[in-house]
Amino acid sequence: MNHKLTVVIIEDEKNICTFMETTLENHGYKAVSAGTGKDGLSCITSLCPDIVLLDLGLPDIDGIDIIKKVREFSAVPILVISARSEESQKVAALDAGADDYITKPFGTSELLARIRTALRHSQIPASGVSASPSVYQCGDLCIDFEKRLVNLAGNQIHLTQIEYKLVSLLARNAGKVLTYDFMINHIWGPYADNNNQILRVNMAHIRRKIEENPADPKYISTEIGVGYRMKEGISANSSSLWPEEENT
Ligand code: CA
Repeated sequence: MNHKLTVVIIEDEKNICTFMETTLENHGYKAVSAGTGKDGLSCITSLCPDIVLLDLGLPDIDGIDIIKKVREFSAVPILVISARSEESQKVAALDAGADDYITKPFGTSELLARIRTALRHSQIPASGVSASPSVYQCGDLCIDFEKRLVNLAGNQIHLTQIEYKLVSLLARNAGKVLTYDFMINHIWGPYADNNNQILRVNMAHIRRKIEENPADPKYISTEIGVGYRMKEGISANSSSLWPEEENT
C-alpha cells in the first residue's frame, strides 16, 4: 500500500499556501490547507497529519498559541513559516515546541529539505538511545561519538571538553536549529548565566578548529538571533561509512 504522508498547512496568505500545496503534491505528499488557526487546529485533530507547516501571523489565533495547544495532545513535527525580521518569534516558537522554522521567501528545495529533516527527527525515540548513531560524517568532518573523536580530513582535531560537548550536541541534531538557551541549558545546566557570551566564545574556538574559513562556515551556521545549525551529514551506527553523496 502506498501511504502518502499528510501535511497540514496553516497559512492565510493564499499565494504562499498554493505554492506549498502544489510543491508538496508534486513530491508525493498529501497536502491539506487551512487559512485560519481555528480551521488548522481542527484539521490537525481530524487528520492526525505527519507534519504541520504553520504561519505565525494568522488572523484569529496567534501561531505560538497554536503550537502550545497542539503540544497538549500531539508530538507531530511543526515547521514554522516566518518572516525574516521575526527572530524573537522564532525563538518563542521553538521554545513552545516547534521543531524548526523556514524563513519567507523560500524555495522548493529548502522547503522539502526542512520537511524531510523534521520528519526524520520525529522518528527518533524520545530517549534517543537505540536510534542514536555512533558516527556523524559531513564532507571532511567526522565525529565518532563512541570514541569521542573529531577528525577533519583524517586529522584528529583537539577540542576541549566543552567544545566537544557543543559539537556533538549539534551533530546529533544535525539539520535542526538549536536555540542559544537550549544549548546553554544543555551544556552548562539550568542555572547557567543566560548570557550568550560564553557560548559565542566557545563556538568561535570550534570554528577556528574545524572550519576552513571561520567567517564563512561550512559545517556550523549561525541563525542570527536564534541559535546554531549543523549541516546535515551521514549518521551511521557503525564506523564503516558508505561513500558520501555530494550535494552539488
Ligand atoms: Ca500570515
